[in-house]
Amino acid sequence: MKIGLEVHVALPTKTKLFCSDSTAETKEPNSQICPICVGFPGSRPVLNKEAVRVAKSIAIALNCSVKDKISFIRKVYFYPDLPKSFQITQLSESIGSEGSIELEKKKIRIRRIQIEEDPAQIIREGGYTLLDFNRSGTPLVEIVTEPDITTEEELRETVFTLRTILHYQGVDVNQEIKTDLNISLAEDRVEIKNVTGIKNLIAAAQYEIARQGAIIEKGGVPEKETRSFDAASGTTKASRKKESEEEYGFIYEPDLTVYDTKNLAENAMRIPTKIARDLAVKHNANYKTILELIAFDTGALNLISTFEDEFSFNTIIASLEIMKRFGEPSNSNVFKEILNLTDQKIDITREVLKKIKSGDKVEIKKFSESQIDETIRKMLNSDATIVEKYKKNKNVVNFIIGTISKKYGIQPREAAVRVESVINKL
Ligand SMILES: [Zn+2]
Repeated sequence: MKIGLEVHVALPTKTKLFCSDSTAETKEPNSQICPICVGFPGSRPVLNKEAVRVAKSIAIALNCSVKDKISFIRKVYFYPDLPKSFQITQLSESIGSEGSIELEKKKIRIRRIQIEEDPAQIIREGGYTLLDFNRSGTPLVEIVTEPDITTEEELRETVFTLRTILHYQGVDVNQEIKTDLNISLAEDRVEIKNVTGIKNLIAAAQYEIARQGAIIEKGGVPEKETRSFDAASGTTKASRKKESEEEYGFIYEPDLTVYDTKNLAENAMRIPTKIARDLAVKHNANYKTILELIAFDTGALNLISTFEDEFSFNTIIASLEIMKRFGEPSNSNVFKEILNLTDQKIDITREVLKKIKSGDKVEIKKFSESQIDETIRKMLNSDATIVEKYKKNKNVVNFIIGTISKKYGIQPREAAVRVESVINKL
């Protein structure tokens, strides 16, 4: 199975791609428009530098090779949401190419990243087709991957990792990301257009894997076609025949000159996948765990970096996992207390968290050495041969050390000292 994605993401700029209209959400249709984004004859686009800067930083974050000089083209087609009959986008001189998204165990190659404008919004209501141009001209990047995704799990990981990277470039990852999905279980690829949102993307893939699988099982071959996803029923159905690239008219955009990006996004931003990989290698920890903790949470990333000397890396990771489990933001002031308690091997329950949040002191039960020794003695007594074995190999008591350190909230090395002293007294 091969899956490839074309992901469309709105860039976080205050104004549109080719005019100075606002991109802010508004309820009043056609209130943020001008001759440029409506496509009046004679109007000329003026490129938004900030959009190019963010797009370039995304390209860098996705390990793309980035061109110093970019240009735009007109993709000519007729549709009501595009009265000027062409969309300004990029083709060969796009902002980035040949990049990758780094998963835990493989890389998903990126073919191309291009900057383009969003068309207007079509609203069908009471037998009418209405047009709202507020969206027209919103800056987008389209990220095109190679069909390197081979399982549903990889699809989830790809989307998760991509969203994490985009988040760190300032993109609003809670927006309804629009994706075209190509998926083939056999030779010919099937394309599913305009899937909105992550949940629908996964559902569309699941349905299509099952549908194509069933055809193959019956000895058939899934046909090359374009389909659409119906979110209500969770199914895909055949739609219009897809225009091939030759059927679109592509011409060079004469109103925008070749644009020099050399001085943009000079300080290449820190890339979460790279940070997670470096931390995992340095601390011999799990890449996925770290990425999941710092994804969408710059606070968690700062904490991991800030506390490195004071607390052990594992204690910070364990504490952040507790915060995540209870849905606590990592920047909340309970974190430091949780870190302290975790460092002392105190089990953080919902009760304990409640106490911390209400400012109550969390009682740390102190056990006397004799209490601890008594438990150790009982555990040793339950295995008559253990002391003999211990003389040859100290590791045989590791499970006792583990149990004691957990039960009494003491460090394993402290527990080991207690175990040894009890054995010596036997
Ligand atoms: Zn405008």
